[in-house]
Amino acid sequence: MIEKPLASRPLPVDVAPSADTPRLVDTHCHLEDARFDADRDEVIKRAQASCPGVGHMITVGTDIASSEAALRIAHAYPFIYAAVGVHPHEAKGFDENVFKRLLALAENEKTVAIGETGLDYHYMHSPREAQVHAFRMQVEIARQTGLPVIVHSREADDETLEILGQSGRVKGVLHCFSGDAEMAGAAMAMGFYISIAGPVTFRKAEAIRRVAAEVPDDYLLIETDAPYLAPGPLRGQRNEPAYLAETARAIAAIRGISPEDLARITSLNASRLFGIGEVPGAGRFTYRIRDSLYLNLTNRCTNSCSFCVRFYSDFVKGHKLRLTREPDAGELISEIGEPGAYKEIVFCGYGEPLMRLDVVKEVAAWVKAGGGKVRINTNGHGSLINGRNILPELKGLVDGLSISLDAQDEKTYAGLCKPVFPGAFAALLDFIRESVKYVPEVRVTVVRTDGVDVEACRSLALSLGVKDFRVRELDAVG
Ligand code: SF4
Ligand SMILES: [Zn+2]
Repeated sequence: MIEKPLASRPLPVDVAPSADTPRLVDTHCHLEDARFDADRDEVIKRAQASCPGVGHMITVGTDIASSEAALRIAHAYPFIYAAVGVHPHEAKGFDENVFKRLLALAENEKTVAIGETGLDYHYMHSPREAQVHAFRMQVEIARQTGLPVIVHSREADDETLEILGQSGRVKGVLHCFSGDAEMAGAAMAMGFYISIAGPVTFRKAEAIRRVAAEVPDDYLLIETDAPYLAPGPLRGQRNEPAYLAETARAIAAIRGISPEDLARITSLNASRLFGIGEVPGAGRFTYRIRDSLYLNLTNRCTNSCSFCVRFYSDFVKGHKLRLTREPDAGELISEIGEPGAYKEIVFCGYGEPLMRLDVVKEVAAWVKAGGGKVRINTNGHGSLINGRNILPELKGLVDGLSISLDAQDEKTYAGLCKPVFPGAFAALLDFIRESVKYVPEVRVTVVRTDGVDVEACRSLALSLGVKDFRVRELDAVG
């Protein structure tokens, strides 16, 4: 029997997510575990009070009884959700009745996933055939209900991928990922997310750290798997959702972003996969990544690069950047507030900032007067767009320019970036050549992708007088 939600129950801490103080989502814990019987409510409060705080949790059943218990907890707290399923260790009892019961539990309003299910050939607590059968049946429930599946795979990667590959359109997550980069790549190719847990902090976990570094933003989730697998310094103790902050800090450091960036990115993914939490509605004019503030002036651009994030996502580092209108200088200035509070103020966003040269100049002058540092990320078409050499106008207003070269010759550039202007590549080279005369720090970048000769691009950039040349990896945005 599942209890109804206690609608009037007050929340211990405000859980409303805010774009500026993003909260984590623990996408996999076992709050129904007996180890939490004595202090479950305190455990939940500690998670909310941690930093970054845990906004939402998914408590995950491992058999019918624990799935029902997970749902009872989910109904007692508005910010906790449940997954219902049978763990591979318990697969030997999976029969028609279990299938029907799970199907019924899957219909519950607080159920957001099927699992955990999968294959565990390390412990073999259930025979192989029973595990495969239970896994296939639960993938079938996920298919029928449209819910995502939470997958446990240990020493069974090939068979796990095979079963998921045969499942049609089922989506989901490989929880507490312990495979290699190849396994992660194959899973992501099927649309699966990769969830990283506490072991990423363990001394000998180089392979997991590599995966944690390389999974693109759009596929990354985090979890505790509490009460199991407490991270780093807490290893061996009972794990709890509050310790997710420890894992978040470790993964953020590996990826070179702040824990808040990581919370924003992974909570957006949790929202996409499980339908929990808030997805930002409006596109942002300003957004913070690490300790810099980025300005999103326009979504228009004079290129249509094949790798441009605008064509497959509205989000960068969890910030929604798809604009419904363009901001004016006053709006940007009031959102910036204190220019000196940031390492840099970067004109960037989802388009070419120099399409709005007047706004760039007005805001940059204000930032400089307020003691801030200004950079512009540009495709180098600024002089073409404005019909004159604009570099002298940027002198004194701009400390740094990051210019996308992206190709070693005109033909490659035309194929990759599809510029609207004829002669765009030659104009881009002129822009780079001019920029070093007027802007102190000029950086030229390329995205490593098919057809791009990185070394030829480097030589070309150096020949134009640039000293700072950087290669960006495909999928690494922001
Ligand atoms: S120049 Fe930048 S914003 Fe424009 S299409 Fe290319 S990647 Fe996108
Ligand atoms: Zn688990």
